[in-house]
Amino acid sequence: MSQVESQHFVQLIDQGQLAHAYLFTGPNQQAKHDLVQAILQKLVCPTAQDQGGPACGHCQSCQRIEADQFADVYYLQPDGQNLKVDQIRSLKEWLTKSPLEADFKMAVIEQADTMNASAANALLTFLEEPTADVYLILFAQEADRLLATIRSRVQTIHLAQVDSQDQIQAMVDQGFDQGHAQIIQALGGDAVQRWTLRYQVAEFDTWIKLLNQFYRLLVGGNPQAFVMIQSQLKAFLSGADALDALDYLAVINHAAVVQLTTGAQSDQVIQSYFIYELLQKQTCQLSTLLAIQEAILLAKQRLAANVSPQLVFEGLVVSLVK
Ligand SMILES: [Zn+2]
Repeated sequence: MSQVESQHFVQLIDQGQLAHAYLFTGPNQQAKHDLVQAILQKLVCPTAQDQGGPACGHCQSCQRIEADQFADVYYLQPDGQNLKVDQIRSLKEWLTKSPLEADFKMAVIEQADTMNASAANALLTFLEEPTADVYLILFAQEADRLLATIRSRVQTIHLAQVDSQDQIQAMVDQGFDQGHAQIIQALGGDAVQRWTLRYQVAEFDTWIKLLNQFYRLLVGGNPQAFVMIQSQLKAFLSGADALDALDYLAVINHAAVVQLTTGAQSDQVIQSYFIYELLQKQTCQLSTLLAIQEAILLAKQRLAANVSPQLVFEGLVVSLVK
């Protein structure tokens, strides 16, 4: 699924601006389904509700939604070739009943472009007078296969096939610096989601520069790295930032390994100039880079085991600086 799209919805919901009716278009059914789940999780996850931001993905509510066990969503599919008026009527009836688990109900109409005229008209009366706390999501391959009267009452979200270049471009369109977007994309996991919420050019730039400096000290086996955690890095290591920092160190270390062993600059040109400069200035052994790689892995495991970020980073330095 496009993380950029799900992030868009997380922001809408946090701002109380989720519309009552959407049309998801595009070739990928799974992407549409995944986006519906992300929206549902965002709406019911207690963590996401209390603190804003994306759903946690592992609480009971999030898991029930992922397992398709959530009671307040209704998926409607064509009965035969078409979606028929009786189906729309049953759906409308279901929507009038009180929700069981949540404080809203959501209806998802798959292949909405197969609605016959009377079904479309029945749906239209609903779209003209949306009920509070009811959300309607239509799926269709292309928007123009739906009646114009329906199209004009829903917000269309086109879900393209997303690859990493598209994801980077989408971030750049949202105001990300190109180089920063490449780095965040390379971090993987939920990094795109997290940074989309809070990205600021200057802050990210500072973060990267500090980590580059820290990495240079690690490569050089310089004990100053230890001091740097306390004096500068510590402020940037709360929450998921510590994991992002380790992921970033792993990315540049990998780029350094590639460059040292093949002479080639690594694919995405992630910080390749920095790596190039670093390897020019410092005589560095492959064994050092491999030791760093191993230490980063270990640090990630300790972080996952709830060791404090500062201790994790100190342990990382201690294992590398003799
Ligand atoms: Zn959750």
